[in-house]
Amino acid sequence: MTWTNQAHWYDWRQAQNRKPAHYRCPLCGLQLPSMSDHMLLFPEGDHNRRRHAHTNCVLKARSEGRLPSRSEWRKTQRPSAQERPARRLSAKRILYALRPRLRRSRPSDS
Ligand SMILES: [Zn+2]
Repeated sequence: MTWTNQAHWYDWRQAQNRKPAHYRCPLCGLQLPSMSDHMLLFPEGDHNRRRHAHTNCVLKARSEGRLPSRSEWRKTQRPSAQERPARRLSAKRILYALRPRLRRSRPSDS
């Protein structure tokens, strides 16, 4: 199971890290010095699961469709109008539709 299969969508931003530390990029598995140009990835927006990744790896994964944003993922989830099953009308809804009109239009005087 690759790291990018663990979430439906991702949020990301440019990392601004002043702390000298080394991370392992979840996309290529290689080391990533914190001071280098890199990005933070948030699986499903979860900041507790954030990972530091090489900017190039993020761009590559994005171009391959492996890091969908939330809105991109939602588009794949929403069924189209044709696929959506017809909504059953409840009895209450039918009665409401058939209710007598309270205000009838009056015949005009002229
Ligand atoms: Zn990488």
